[in-house]
Amino acid sequence: MLTAKNHFGETVYIGDLIKKEGVQQLKGNHYFCPQCEGKVIVKLGVQRISHFAHVHLSPQCVEYDRESAYHMQAKMQLYEWLESECSKVDLEVFLPDIIQRPDLMFTYLGNTYCVEYQCSPISEEIFQKRTNGYLSKGLIPLWILGANKLHRKQTNVITLPKFQSLFIKRNHTGAWYLSSYCPSIKSFITITNLHPLSPHTMQCDYEIIPQSQLHLPQWLNPIFQNTFYVANWCKGIQHVKDTMIRYHTDKLFLQELYRNQLHLYLLPPYVGVPLRDNLLLETSPIIWQMYVLLDNIFSKKVGIILTKEDVYKRLEKRINRNHIKIRNHIKPSVNQLLALIREYLYLLTKCQVLKEIKPNVYRYENQMSFPFTISEASNFEKKFYNNLTSEKIVWY
Ligand SMILES: [Zn+2]
Repeated sequence: MLTAKNHFGETVYIGDLIKKEGVQQLKGNHYFCPQCEGKVIVKLGVQRISHFAHVHLSPQCVEYDRESAYHMQAKMQLYEWLESECSKVDLEVFLPDIIQRPDLMFTYLGNTYCVEYQCSPISEEIFQKRTNGYLSKGLIPLWILGANKLHRKQTNVITLPKFQSLFIKRNHTGAWYLSSYCPSIKSFITITNLHPLSPHTMQCDYEIIPQSQLHLPQWLNPIFQNTFYVANWCKGIQHVKDTMIRYHTDKLFLQELYRNQLHLYLLPPYVGVPLRDNLLLETSPIIWQMYVLLDNIFSKKVGIILTKEDVYKRLEKRINRNHIKIRNHIKPSVNQLLALIREYLYLLTKCQVLKEIKPNVYRYENQMSFPFTISEASNFEKKFYNNLTSEKIVWY
């Protein structure tokens, strides 16, 4: 903990105390925990950052005594940065109504934000509970991931296990990103242009901005350029397919392909495409997009008519049967899922598989064609992405 109450009941910040009295003077002084009111003392560390620690551990405050030096250092840096960016910042303030204690709380342009800087994994339940706690008080939660929890796989690929993926959110233009901070290099690290290949592996960009060069409005609403790396994406999709075959993951899906006399390596190139809102679903785009094709047009006669709502109903069935999973913490609404379907159907019209005959009403126009060999599949894919990028059909 970086704050405590003194004998007068005033909240004191360790950074200020050290500046005023010097580290050695603080030894032996008693302070009190703002939450459990138990005694706390100043701990001075050579490697560890100076902080308050409980004399007797209290069950409700265990989390604070376990905070790593990395966590405390980040919290201290963010506190001092926020103080220069806005007028009212509180550190580790205890909110008794919801029994929560955000790392930082600040008010900006009439909104009050609660920063949860998280370095140690927490469950989705706790994440949701805390998020809902803040929202119930009209406070805006800001979840920031400790940069020591980022696992960069390759230049433009990241692995985001369940805990890390909870931090994914959107900016005001609807673009997906993840906010992170590294105290060691005193910089904000934003993961942008996130395109999921599988539940936890995503294509992305990294934006590293030193604290001294970033201001609050950009932090609250980062703006970034859209980028997309075709060759990287195709390699990623191939890797996901290889993994499915090698490790027999997603058995249900593979079995369904075999029942339909299809092979994972011989699917059309419009299976597994990066749509803007693929992140609403946890299931790989290879799987859910193929399910959409299987449920709506594959083995149907050319000429049949389908609507966006028909496709949604069939997708919903797959979700209920757990064949397709949504990202729970994002809680996609029906309208958001309909928009995702529309995006996919639009792409299928561009591939001349479907034709939109009225708004949101489609006719199955040209039979889906499947490659016969792996080299043919690869040629189809090349042609497909060339057309997409030259026509600027999607955002890249
Ligand atoms: Zn306490």
